[in-house]
Amino acid sequence: MNPANLIPHRVVELVAAADWITVFTGAGMSADSGVPTFRDTRGGLWENVDPTALATPAAFAADPGLVWGWYRWRAAMVANAAPNAGHHALAQLASGTGDSGITAAPQRSVMVVTQNVDDLHERAGSTVTSHLHGSLFEPRCAGCGAVYDVARFRESLADLTPGRVAEIEADIAAAPSRAPDLLRTPTPRCDACGRRVRPGIVWFGEALPQTAWQRAESCFRAAEVVIVVGTSGVVHPAAGLPEHAARAGIPVVEINPEPSAVSAIATARIAATAAVALPELLAALPG
Ligand code: ZN
Repeated sequence: MNPANLIPHRVVELVAAADWITVFTGAGMSADSGVPTFRDTRGGLWENVDPTALATPAAFAADPGLVWGWYRWRAAMVANAAPNAGHHALAQLASGTGDSGITAAPQRSVMVVTQNVDDLHERAGSTVTSHLHGSLFEPRCAGCGAVYDVARFRESLADLTPGRVAEIEADIAAAPSRAPDLLRTPTPRCDACGRRVRPGIVWFGEALPQTAWQRAESCFRAAEVVIVVGTSGVVHPAAGLPEHAARAGIPVVEINPEPSAVSAIATARIAATAAVALPELLAALPG
């Protein structure tokens, strides 16, 4: 598609003129990388393991190995996926390096605030200022809060190759009641205090991490333009961030193939996926 058709001229002007851009990403950002969201997977493969029921402190207390095994599984799926063209375009927007390789706008700061728990932004080369809902790759002690060594965690995923993941999925499909036993994995223990290590995810009923929230608020307050990518805009309190920005008069650009709760407050809307729209936006900027 011709960038001039997909990206409104107004959006190009706003982004080109901004020294500080805050990008707020949700599940749609990672959709083109093939990372499953599990939000509407009920029955079938997971009929004996409800992902939402595992995302609570009570579930971890009741069956830590199952909860750990489930998040380890998700982390392996992310590790087996790759950043998409949208992730790469955002990293290039921040570095000011377009396809030509010429640095165009060295003063431009791009702050990435994400609701995603994957590490695809980082692997594309972006610095993530705030993981509002935590990260699959930041396990920590459930007792003292000490951060677990991420290199050791990544090494522990090595057995979950794409081939092994497919085998386990086939086993679960053949006998769904075995799913908990196939996923259950002993949790590591904290080096400092010996208690269990837990996933670094914000679970239902837990407050957002204070530092991540404060950083996100600062990014939205300081932005000259906010780009909201692939989020439904219904998960609060995160959804309030673009709303507050719009109320403060900061232009909000929405990138989403479908209208969402953000559309009502958006200055401009680009009806396309992240993997299509962000490279087009990058290409449309004067270089
Ligand atoms: Zn500890």
